[in-house]
Amino acid sequence: MRILVIEDEHRISASIKKGLEQEKYAVDVAYDGQDGFDLASDGIYDLILLDLMLPKMDGIQVCRQLRQKNIHTPILMLTAKSQIEDKVAGLDQGADDYLTKPFSFEELLARIRALTRRPHNALSSILQVDDLSLDTTTYEAKRSGQPIALSSKEYSLLEYLIRQQDRIVSKEEIIDHVWSYDADILPNTVEVFIKNLRQKIDHPFPNSQKLIHTVRGFGYKLSAKA
Ligand code: CA
Repeated sequence: MRILVIEDEHRISASIKKGLEQEKYAVDVAYDGQDGFDLASDGIYDLILLDLMLPKMDGIQVCRQLRQKNIHTPILMLTAKSQIEDKVAGLDQGADDYLTKPFSFEELLARIRALTRRPHNALSSILQVDDLSLDTTTYEAKRSGQPIALSSKEYSLLEYLIRQQDRIVSKEEIIDHVWSYDADILPNTVEVFIKNLRQKIDHPFPNSQKLIHTVRGFGYKLSAKA
């Protein structure tokens, strides 16, 4: 999952980015409202963390203009304690939730999880397809009860594919949602990751349903249906 952090205080944005990357998110940072708005306008992010007080364009404006552009990415607004009225204004302009600074990283993670959860997974942190399960809290993958060791990016890729299950996703979509801009990734890198993932989740389990399917000319699909 890919998150955009729009926060002009470099110390805060750097520590959020670092922490979120440790939690397997791909993270881009924008340091002013205009730059943040431009990045968010592509609609590729799964979540936006938006500071309220920003140079060039404040958080409320960013929020309002994104919603006017029909960008419905969940927005978690970051506000200072003294800005109660601004919080209300932010929610009025289409923000989904807010968090008051200073906040604990655990609180931030909990809010992010709540906002990015799919409705059918609402009560569980476990994503399940056939006999494959992925625990989005502990990052453990299991198939037929056997633990599978995944690298950080393999985990992110698998999580993305499971969340899009039964839908064909292109390499470009995968790159957009699994890697940040500073990763500088090429389409054939996706092929390499898919191949590695197959060797971990499909090949060792010949008695289970094959899950990763190549749809030639389009991309990939994770599905328990043949
Ligand atoms: Ca600020």
